Amino acid sequence: MDRATVLKLAPKQCYEEMVAMTYKRMKNLLAVILFGFLIIPIQGMAQDFDNIEITTNHVKDNIYYLEGSGGNIGVIVGDDGVLIVDDQFAPLTNKIEAAITDLTKLPVTFVVNSHFHYDHTDGNENFGRAGAFIVAQDNARRRMESTQVLASGRAQEAYDDIGLPKITFFDTMRFYFNDEPIELIHTGPGHTDGDAQVYFMESNVIHTGDMFVRYVLPFIDQNNGGSLDGMIEATDRLASIINDETIIIPGHGQLSNRDDLLNYRNMLVTIRGNLARAKVQGLSPAEMLETEPADGFAPAGDGTNQWLLRAYDEYR
Ligand SMILES: [Zn+2]
Repeated sequence: MDRATVLKLAPKQCYEEMVAMTYKRMKNLLAVILFGFLIIPIQGMAQDFDNIEITTNHVKDNIYYLEGSGGNIGVIVGDDGVLIVDDQFAPLTNKIEAAITDLTKLPVTFVVNSHFHYDHTDGNENFGRAGAFIVAQDNARRRMESTQVLASGRAQEAYDDIGLPKITFFDTMRFYFNDEPIELIHTGPGHTDGDAQVYFMESNVIHTGDMFVRYVLPFIDQNNGGSLDGMIEATDRLASIINDETIIIPGHGQLSNRDDLLNYRNMLVTIRGNLARAKVQGLSPAEMLETEPADGFAPAGDGTNQWLLRAYDEYR
């Protein structure tokens, strides 16, 4: 149908609507096609959130952490209300709120995002709509303002304004909330370029976000400002901030202490040394992999190889 035929069949306004609709449909179709390519690799990871239970674990004093799916959620409750660190996936918000209601009837006043990744922030729009103030390092907010592609290849879509952090900080900021000085610390780019560690100073508990995790090789988002060097530097800073009595809530995994953090740091330093040696020897990426730089730390396989290749690419 050419334009003249359309004009004859439909009034002008209608024609423009049709063109607009066709354009919109084409744009949507294009977006679906483009996005389809990006999400194909993670289709297998799609989760049935109906089956996820939220478990509440006591850490110390009035501090808890919740496990469900995604990053550990730090929670502090008290007379001032509730502050949480990270909010996992949007379909879990009701269950997360129910778990918090078992601890206190007061609402969530603040949501601190340890960084922008979806498995820590997907609940932002729900909590924002419910009236919580969302707080993050400034770079994390900037990442959330538009669609990002993670180093894993996964696309993370921009959040609606209601889900964006309305309060941001650069190096440090402090809350005095529930009788607890709570320091937000940006230890520099590491996991991403907008990481925040949340230190409950009086209770001596720290939520590290994904700068420190308890699965073997930590994901480093080189696409979004992360680097192996940065991660090592950040763990050095973290180790200097805390002490042997500090309880660490890692981004993922079980409660830990400073020794665990130092072991993790040493693993990263050893692997970096192996990569640097391979680089000095002029090894190609394939030859580097043959030297098994992560041997003794991570099981051989595709995941480890991808991690090593991305890290090796940092040292051009
Ligand atoms: Zn992350």
